[in-house]
Amino acid sequence: MAAKRRFRNVVRIGPVQVGTAYDQRGQEKHTAACTAPRCGFSTEYDSRSAAELAARTHRCPAR
Ligand SMILES: [Zn+2]
Repeated sequence: MAAKRRFRNVVRIGPVQVGTAYDQRGQEKHTAACTAPRCGFSTEYDSRSAAELAARTHRCPAR
């Protein structure tokens, strides 16, 4: 996962981990990051549901 943040509420959906953390400005961000070595998918969302949806619909090219 990007940078060294304290993610909480981390769940795993398929190969993708979704976690919630605060960014530098103190705003809550929800990150979906794929754990497959050659994938590199990692995106931030403003809402948890959007991040979880992205995780569920992620079609991993590294699989
Ligand atoms: Zn992936």
